[in-house]
Amino acid sequence: KNLPSVSILSTGGTISSKVDYRTGGVYADYTASDFLIMCPELRDIANINAHKAMSLMSEDMLPRDWIGMAKIIENEIKKKVDGIVVTHGTDTLHFSTAALSFMLEEFNIPIIFTGSQRSIDRGSSDAFFNLSCAVKAAAQSDIAEVMTCMHGTSNDDYCLLIRGTKVRKMHTSRRDAFRPINETALAKVYPDKIEILNQEYKKTDRMNKSKV
Ligand code: ASP
Repeated sequence: KNLPSVSILSTGGTISSKVDYRTGGVYADYTASDFLIMCPELRDIANINAHKAMSLMSEDMLPRDWIGMAKIIENEIKKKVDGIVVTHGTDTLHFSTAALSFMLEEFNIPIIFTGSQRSIDRGSSDAFFNLSCAVKAAAQSDIAEVMTCMHGTSNDDYCLLIRGTKVRKMHTSRRDAFRPINETALAKVYPDKIEILNQEYKKTDRMNKSKV
């Protein structure tokens, strides 16, 4: 009962996808509640509320979907959660984080976008590590910005937290495709610690965020 509270909002993308073995394609079907069943250790990091916000591949998102996402995130923030994790397709993830950085500027908790390059129903999926790093950062970091949290290397070593306006997908399939542009990443998220790399960030004002 003493754990921080984190909301996970799913919007679709490969992280929500199932392989259809008849066609070889994938479709966005899994939701945030399914992630909790597939990755129960998330509950050791935080008390989690899971909601499906939308179910779209990110190449199909339009600016009006950013508005919808911003409203849903704002409603979660009103519930006084400690952090938010949004799962999202990777193709336009960095466009959404850039837009939402401006739309959610006034808020004061970590808002962390993550996704995966391989669908979550595959054993080799990067989704599990990305999700657990994202929940850890949402629960424990004191960075009150819109950020991405994706693999920092091709192994499960650490994820990088990168400012939402300074991130870009640089590769179609590599796990470590998300890289910072024109500044260093804000932090490395390891399974057991968060290492700050760039001190220039907006801080949360809550005391329980001092565990970094
Ligand atoms: N096309 C997918 C999307 O952006 C790719 C992914 O999620 O990795 O929704």
